[in-house]
Amino acid sequence: MNESGINRERLLATFVELLHINAPSRREGPIARHVAAMLTALGASVRYDNAGEAIGGEVGNLIARLEGGLDAPALLLCAHLDTIEPTAALALRREHGAFASDGTTILGADDRAGVAAILEVARALTERGAPHPPLELVFTVAEEVGVMGSMALDAAGLTAVMGFVPDTTGPVGTIITRAPAQKHLAVTIHGKAAHAGVSPEQGISAITVAARAIAGMRQGRIDEETTANIGVIHGGKATNIIADTVRLEGEARSRDPKKLAAQAAHMVACFEETAAEAGARAEITVSDVYPSFNLADDAPVVRAARGAAEALGVQPLTAATGGGSDANFLNARGIPTVILSTGYRQPHCPDEQQDEEELVRLAAWLYLIVRRAAAHT
Ligand SMILES: [Zn+2]
Repeated sequence: MNESGINRERLLATFVELLHINAPSRREGPIARHVAAMLTALGASVRYDNAGEAIGGEVGNLIARLEGGLDAPALLLCAHLDTIEPTAALALRREHGAFASDGTTILGADDRAGVAAILEVARALTERGAPHPPLELVFTVAEEVGVMGSMALDAAGLTAVMGFVPDTTGPVGTIITRAPAQKHLAVTIHGKAAHAGVSPEQGISAITVAARAIAGMRQGRIDEETTANIGVIHGGKATNIIADTVRLEGEARSRDPKKLAAQAAHMVACFEETAAEAGARAEITVSDVYPSFNLADDAPVVRAARGAAEALGVQPLTAATGGGSDANFLNARGIPTVILSTGYRQPHCPDEQQDEEELVRLAAWLYLIVRRAAAHT
């Protein structure tokens, strides 16, 4: 593939190896050890941070540094090691130029495609022996359960001036430059228990309060860059008891911090006002899950991704996402970072697929990003 040193068969073989390692969130030990061994063999220095202890997982984030013989600013490549569900007993199918499972498990291309591409780039660079900027390779844990690994990332020692996270759908060439912040709401409605048949007048139903509050709440797509959802509700013990407690969880997201604050305040007000009207009480905790990011089209990291895509012959396209990822926290830690499409389709679904040619293009894209950075120093 043009001047890229990507070894197609080795890349696909690595991808298949990674797919067969079962490692759902917080149980990334086996895949982390596998990746660490490969990087160590390439001469990279490898460490784990303490995120594993912080979040109750088997291992922390795996952080490697691969020197490249060039005294240039470091580049960061990042992918997550966990999958949303177990992939034990994955029955891999390879048909029509794509990988898929048999439908009984997910495939796990999200984000083994990203991990495999980064490993192939490290191998290709090492094999070729041409000078390149230092690479900081960050493999996060527990991304799929609220980006917990990178929330707890120990970024001390990271010096990269830009970062690339291959971890989204869409044709290779797609560059995500904008993503929302998320706030989480934990709500407890305290009503008053009473016997539903004997003395219903003495009760205050927390279930009714929750229902009224939710019915009056703006949810779903609020506007082009703002969304909200009440996603969890628990409460009540029996039909003959007026429920005194309901617990709910919800979220709000926006790429605009003001809109996010306004939506969260609206949701809080719905619970508080409805509870007060009924003589109940709403206890609400609002917490920040991850911060937003918004990179200009002429930011150096965006230009680097674009330029390499053009050099590869694929059409670069910048876009926004409604999801949160490792890139949110890397940006928050001062490393301008974009998300790159890997070519996986239907992530988190039994019919998840990964196109072979797209995976090869992804690796070549990352390789060119690094090589072009070397040429520009
Ligand atoms: Zn992912």
